[in-house]
Amino acid sequence: MDSPAGGDKVISLSGLTKVFNEHVVAVDHLDLTISRGQIFGLLGPNGAGKTTTIRMLLGLVIPTSGSIEVFGQRLRPGADVLARVGAMVEDPSFVPHLSGIENLRQWWRYGGQPLREAHVEEALAVAGLGDDVFRKVRTYSHGMRQRLGIAQALLCNPDLLVLDEPTNGLDPAQIRELRQVFWRLSERGTTVMISSHLLAEVEQSCTHVGVMNRGKIVTAGAVDTLVGGSEVAYVEVDDAERARAVLAATAGVASVNPEGDGLSVALDGTDRPTVVASLVHAGVAVRTVTARHRLEDAFLQLLSSPTAQGPDDRGRGAYPQQTPGAAAGTTVAAS
Ligand code: ATP
Repeated sequence: MDSPAGGDKVISLSGLTKVFNEHVVAVDHLDLTISRGQIFGLLGPNGAGKTTTIRMLLGLVIPTSGSIEVFGQRLRPGADVLARVGAMVEDPSFVPHLSGIENLRQWWRYGGQPLREAHVEEALAVAGLGDDVFRKVRTYSHGMRQRLGIAQALLCNPDLLVLDEPTNGLDPAQIRELRQVFWRLSERGTTVMISSHLLAEVEQSCTHVGVMNRGKIVTAGAVDTLVGGSEVAYVEVDDAERARAVLAATAGVASVNPEGDGLSVALDGTDRPTVVASLVHAGVAVRTVTARHRLEDAFLQLLSSPTAQGPDDRGRGAYPQQTPGAAAGTTVAAS
């Protein structure tokens, strides 16, 4: 799917790199463009560099090199453009003995802005909390807290909403509701960027995706395009070497890559039955054949790769809770 609003750039990352402690390369020369109205999913396994990318985007972590443009402006500490960005990074924290609405009001005042400028009604309508906003937050379910966190990020009526793993801990019904929130926002022209380690979530919630591993984007594009279009077959055979040779000579096979116990075979102009017939005809026994689309294939290949995870050095001490350059509506985990 193309950008609903004709492709005006909202986020432009160019050569973005973050190295922690001089040797942990969390984000590695990342190039990425996100356009207006897209619901963009940054998809990757744990340690891929998603949170670090989001924190840099919000001015919470200073990049080692590269550039970030948001709404056409170069992002610098304290950049005005961050006033147009709402965000939730990790689990939001609230004052438990205050109601949801009191928490929102207090948080807004704490930012030094007059309450009349907060878009409370709109934020609550989008987050869909109903009368629950009048209950004390200590009685909230995890899903309600997530939605209150999203309402908080929406108080500034952002043109860009950035959420780090927003469905963590939510049940399927809550995830469905959150998806509807994203669609409502996208319809009104707000750009949404989320991170996730769940393929199905990104497939169902997002219009666009960037698959990330070891600090790099390995596949990106419109979800419709990556899910439709050319097919990939995953096969398990008795003789992988021979199968590779046979498939390399089969018309319509674009590529063959080893994956786990089998082979990932990208098809471009042929189909699965033909691939199986070629193998069987050449005396290769086929144990398993599974159909996949390109997004699934990219993600599953990445998960099966021994290098999928990031480096082991996972020290978190360097994260500031909030810097002067952080986005206006940023909710940052207290942990
Ligand atoms: P997760 O969902 O597990 O948080 P992620 O894709 O969001 O994964 P990041 O949290 O961005 O990944 O981490 C990317 C890499 O950078 C990991 O190897 C992590 O250990 C490392 N890293 C992140 N923050 C720091 C830090 N403050 N100091 C040192 N290394 C860090």
